[in-house]
Amino acid sequence: MKIEEVKSTTKTQRIAAHSHIKGLGLDEAGFAIQTSSGLVGQEHAREAAGIVVEMIRSKKMSGRAVLLGGPPGTGKTAISLAIAQELGNKVPFCPMVGSEVYSTEIKKTEVLMENFRRAIGLRIKETKEVYEGEVTELTPVETENPMGGYGKTVSHVVIGLKTAKGTKQLKLDPSIYESLQKEKVETGDVIYIESSSGAVKRQGRSDTFATEFDLEAEEYVPLPKGEVHKKKEVIQDVTLHDLDVANAKPQGGQDIISMMGQLMKPKKTEITDKLRKEINKVVNKYIDQGIAELVPGVLFIDEVHMLDIECFTYLHRALESTIAPIVIFATNRGKCTIRGTEDMVSPHGIPLDLLDRLMIIRTLPYSQEEMQQIIRIRAQTEDISVSEESLAKLASIGVKSTLRYAVQLLTPCSLLAKINAKESIGDDDIQEINELFFDAKASAKILADQDDKYMK
Ligand code: ATP
Repeated sequence: MKIEEVKSTTKTQRIAAHSHIKGLGLDEAGFAIQTSSGLVGQEHAREAAGIVVEMIRSKKMSGRAVLLGGPPGTGKTAISLAIAQELGNKVPFCPMVGSEVYSTEIKKTEVLMENFRRAIGLRIKETKEVYEGEVTELTPVETENPMGGYGKTVSHVVIGLKTAKGTKQLKLDPSIYESLQKEKVETGDVIYIESSSGAVKRQGRSDTFATEFDLEAEEYVPLPKGEVHKKKEVIQDVTLHDLDVANAKPQGGQDIISMMGQLMKPKKTEITDKLRKEINKVVNKYIDQGIAELVPGVLFIDEVHMLDIECFTYLHRALESTIAPIVIFATNRGKCTIRGTEDMVSPHGIPLDLLDRLMIIRTLPYSQEEMQQIIRIRAQTEDISVSEESLAKLASIGVKSTLRYAVQLLTPCSLLAKINAKESIGDDDIQEINELFFDAKASAKILADQDDKYMK
């Protein structure tokens, strides 16, 4: 398995709206600072979230989950992301909506499993021995063609490398000479040679060229006795889902051997249970060897009442697994029927046995002042200039509609201001854009008022 090639598959778009959030913004005693780490207000919920973070850190959350209950646009997603960030840099955060599980092609539990694996990170530590230095000498050494033919061949290359510990001379395999030529490495260039993969890289260039050569083979690299090499730790953060995807792609290059390989093995294009099991095996081996470390992240499931009884049963079991992420459910529903049952009514549409395991946190609607602060932070993040009066106007629109609607007006307003050759958004821009678009509440009201004019 080639972990170097794994690309992150984070659902970036959904997180981008919350890019200003850096943490829960609590003081040392765990009290919420009104505006801190990008979060505004919602103090009780943030403090409760802080306790959850403490429980996760002291490993007391296994088998349990969190439920955030509150009206839409009260920062449930924002607080969940903040929890992930409190848990550490690069802790995965995977947001999803309950209704995402319904698809004609993919099984519900498969969608849940995929998102579970998106929320579990793996930190891979690779210690490589690296020779890094300035090339002081580059001499190909030629010998007579050993096969008795004409001409000469390069038998090895001698390079001088000026490192932090002085200049040393390395005798390298001819295949490295080809790479050096291809990269047009000359004396005076800074290069580094990684001994674990045998790759030589010229600093400042992204492409590496791998060779078959193993620098640890003594005959090619006579190392001065007692020489301490510089160790370089390369850390890579991926999720289990990234690994699934990377290994499900048809692999192999253009060379004959890998093409043969593809003929023998059926092409892997689907993430199967078997593939996941194989990956888990490799991952467990890495963990045992101390090369990798699991980083459980946060799986955020919005509109949890959209899940059905089958999903709940699956989740309940998955929560107990040893490598589960922290699951945070969100809902704005009170009592309702559990989907997939005839008439089982339950708070938030969640089965009672699961509800029993949840720590429930409430989020409350924002005041106009708080909305204004949040919109101000968003404007700063998006580099949009707005006067205080205009911010107040946007906030008053937010109170009448929703915070999200008010925040989303920022971009079209700033476009309009630009068209009118203004440096910052003015009241007139807001007025004009607000008349052009409808917020959800206004739109619903029009539909209700003009009910008879729409097709049914
Ligand atoms: P919910 O999940 O409850 O619907 P949300 O977190 O998705 O709410 P939005 O309605 O999308 O919030 O809010 C619009 C914007 O306001 C987002 O950019 C969000 O990050 C931001 N936001 C919401 N609550 C807060 C808060 N308490 N402090 C700072 N920013 C917030």
